[in-house]
Amino acid sequence: MRFGFDIDDTLINLREHAFHLYNKKLNKDVELAAFKALTTLEIHEPFGLTAEEGTAMWNSLAEEIYYTTCPAFDGAVETLQQLVKDGHEVFYITARNAEHCERTKDWLIQNQFPVQEGHFFCGMKDGEKIRIIEDLQLDYYFDDKPAVLETLLDAPTKVYAIDNSYNRELKIPRLTSWFELKEIIAK
Ligand SMILES: [Mg+2]
Repeated sequence: MRFGFDIDDTLINLREHAFHLYNKKLNKDVELAAFKALTTLEIHEPFGLTAEEGTAMWNSLAEEIYYTTCPAFDGAVETLQQLVKDGHEVFYITARNAEHCERTKDWLIQNQFPVQEGHFFCGMKDGEKIRIIEDLQLDYYFDDKPAVLETLLDAPTKVYAIDNSYNRELKIPRLTSWFELKEIIAK
């Protein structure tokens, strides 16, 4: 089968990683509970930053956020490796800006994610993911972002939301752990 994955906050714990970096940079000690309670994708609010300041903070830390020690979610790497081993196809579809595409692909490879030639798509807008998902005729696709998931409600692909505090409004099947995937595809 053909599986598609968003990267940030789907396979890797990027927002939480960035949250710790914000604390460090701002010399603050905002508790993780404030992060867990966020109902927005953006993380600036518990730091008392405006949306604009939040964007500036994210951009100023982008190198560290994207290319240092962001952890994968438990089971993500192993699950994708196993899919490939079992003969399935794994595709990555990330809306990170075009300037980050090459290095993001390298980062995935360095962190043991299986990346096959031609299976990495990057730099599109959120609303453009659906075209790639349709063209690839994916059987399954996983993402965390409401703006993306909302475009996929009628797609023939089986779409799952990666469970998070900012996407619980969506009436869509969800995945709370990568260890659940095996059961889902066995159905
Ligand atoms: Mg994401």
